[in-house]
Amino acid sequence: MLTDMHIAVLGGDARQLEIIRKLTELDAKLYLIGFEQLAQSFTGAVKEKLEDVDFSIMDAVILPVPGTSLEGEIETIFSSEKVILTEQILNKTPSYCKIYSGISNSYLDHITNLSKRTLVQLFERDDVAIYNSIPTVEGTIMMAIQNTDITIHNSSIAVLGLGRVGMSVARTFALLGAKVKVGARKSAHLARITEMGLVPFHFNDLKNEVSDLDICINTVPHMILNAGIIANMPTNTLIIDLASKPGGTDFRYAEKRGIKALLAPGLPGIVAPKTAGQILANVLSQLLADDLEKRKEISK
Ligand code: NAP
Repeated sequence: MLTDMHIAVLGGDARQLEIIRKLTELDAKLYLIGFEQLAQSFTGAVKEKLEDVDFSIMDAVILPVPGTSLEGEIETIFSSEKVILTEQILNKTPSYCKIYSGISNSYLDHITNLSKRTLVQLFERDDVAIYNSIPTVEGTIMMAIQNTDITIHNSSIAVLGLGRVGMSVARTFALLGAKVKVGARKSAHLARITEMGLVPFHFNDLKNEVSDLDICINTVPHMILNAGIIANMPTNTLIIDLASKPGGTDFRYAEKRGIKALLAPGLPGIVAPKTAGQILANVLSQLLADDLEKRKEISK
């Protein structure tokens, strides 16, 4: 249980509602900032304006998955008012208050460093990234279906990267009957791809390997599908770039060549916000319970 914990929830989308639901069930006291247009109410949670919140009592501050913008603004789909997180706000919190976010950026890193508050990036955790890869794959299948006139079954697909998303994508498309090859740069990854019954190739050979593709799915968060590679793709190839913004594709060149290239961020929040929220809520509730336990131990 999270009884006696005071937690500020700043903005977010439908995923945040699952977090609010779970934390209030566990008896935490929540302060919801950026939710005034939300019709639903939760016992144990109060809607507040940023300027009215007493941050000195907070045990944790929960940000939405993207954290803040580079100017500190927080996405609030349930509010028309701007919510800006600043160093001054963090300075008002107790020194043990942790900041939870999905991912971070230079602004959020900077203000948490200056205020000496611990920032926890949930998406850096393997468990969250692996669970989250499930709705990501489902969203990728949706995009493949919506943007091609062929079946996934029997199509030629390359998946770039064998990380937490790449592995789930490659396996699922293969199970749907696609001819899947997977690109990687580590010999251990090439070995794993072979073990999975898929066709491995090294990124050194990427240019040759793209010449027969129906769909190319990128998970590498660096420029990998550059103009030289795209120039070797058939013009009917569909590129689905799953890597976080700005992706790993030269979108300008793809457009010039008439190749459809789609940057597809945030698929879990789009195709399965409830599940995506539950994934975060389960991990967060465990982390908050651990924080509470540690603080009780120290104060004994
Ligand atoms: P990950 O586990 O870190 O995997 C990244 C993969 O990219 C690894 O195979 C890594 O190989 C490879 N890689 C990284 N830098 C590389 C480089 N410079 N050259 C060649 N290969 C490189 O990450 P993940 O959890 O799978 O996530 C992949 C991306 O998808 C991230 O950008 C993540 O934010 C994004 N994502 C998007 C969605 C969505 O809805 N679109 C959902 C979840 C995640 P090495 O081990 O050799 O470095």
